[in-house]
Amino acid sequence: MNPTMDKYQDYVITSFLKSMPPIVVQKAQGAVLTDTVGRDYIDCFAGLAVANTGHCHPAVIAAAHDQLEKFVHCCSYLYYNQPIADLAEKMAQITPGRLKKTFFANSGAEAVEGALKLAKLYTGKQEVIALQCGFHGRTLGSLSITGNSSRKRRGGPYAPGVSFAPLPNRYRSRSVTSEDCARSLQEIIRFCTSGDVGAFIAEPVLGEGGIIVPPFDYFARVKEVLDRHNILFIADEVQSGFGRTGTMFAIEHYGVEPDIMVTAKAIAAGLPLGALTTRDEIAAAFQPGDHFSTFGGNPVCCAAALANIRVIEQENLCDKAAQSGKYILGRLEALKRQFPSIGDVRGLGLMIGIEMVAGDDLKPAPAQAERIRESCLKKGVLVGVGGVDGNVIRIQPPLVISREQIDFALQAISESVEELASQETARA
Ligand code: PLP
Repeated sequence: MNPTMDKYQDYVITSFLKSMPPIVVQKAQGAVLTDTVGRDYIDCFAGLAVANTGHCHPAVIAAAHDQLEKFVHCCSYLYYNQPIADLAEKMAQITPGRLKKTFFANSGAEAVEGALKLAKLYTGKQEVIALQCGFHGRTLGSLSITGNSSRKRRGGPYAPGVSFAPLPNRYRSRSVTSEDCARSLQEIIRFCTSGDVGAFIAEPVLGEGGIIVPPFDYFARVKEVLDRHNILFIADEVQSGFGRTGTMFAIEHYGVEPDIMVTAKAIAAGLPLGALTTRDEIAAAFQPGDHFSTFGGNPVCCAAALANIRVIEQENLCDKAAQSGKYILGRLEALKRQFPSIGDVRGLGLMIGIEMVAGDDLKPAPAQAERIRESCLKKGVLVGVGGVDGNVIRIQPPLVISREQIDFALQAISESVEELASQETARA
């Protein structure tokens, strides 16, 4: 242990990982984290899909610094200020179709809560449908619509009025089509709810669920059902937004305009900010006194976010993510053909998953995923692990990651998978 880890042990409540990787971060730049003993790591998780423009992009730091020197806080819902106004205008420009007005909060979960409340107020309807395997945050409301018991464990009881719909999973249920899922949604509305459904919420690409990319006709089919029942579509782009999947927002791959879009994570490159963006008439459902956040739309975070979005545009990071993602997926496909412990590789842009399995029945292998994460760490590469069964290695690096850094990371992953296979053979 070292003194920082000791202090964590004594004073910090860490309730996410069983044991945190033994590194103490000293600095971060681009796609590289450096620890306090001077060791560099290629960061293929980007602080959980946050540092899309890279750690400490100079333009983002300068914008935050500039605003810090002017004023840190005034409460953006009490007094007018320029950074939130400029960022809201930018959000209207980059979000799909008629989405125009934004409420800023501090985190993804908080923005999700706001979106649910707004949908209820606008539609006057109480119930919500979410997706099986979906994840929306760790507050009571956002957990209530999370379709994954591993994340909900020990936190119930949850809010009533929530039903869960299936989604096509091309690896785990090959024969289930978008059409089947749209039909299930229709049946869920009819048989599992009181009919009083105001919103359907979904991640366009599921992150925590294990990097699940629904087929490209899925959301259009779902939207047809929602429109027939006057149900709003809330797209949760908290993890998939801001260039991560090769377009500014993942829903663009599906050609569907959501009614409300929720964003956070990569919006301000690591400064805490969440947002819900919607059409004029839906936004108008919030009457004075209905919604508020003390820190929401903080001027420093908003100034950083605006600079951050400009970097995504100016450095063509959407295209870069698409190209890097294709390259990584190609290399991982080749690895999969060599090693049966890799059941599936999938993804969109730089939101990539490697699903680890065991045996002929493709049983999820979470311990193997964990061992690969540990092995990559020793080789100087940080990857994530997730999925409903904890068996998906997640590769979600900063979009600025270079080809050389990608090759270094892929080498570490290949060697780790190979070592794991030899250990398994030796054990058998
Ligand atoms: N929605 C999605 C899709 C997420 O992936 C997350 C976090 O991982 C959240 C919401 C919650 O965001 P936050 O952790 O900022 O509350």
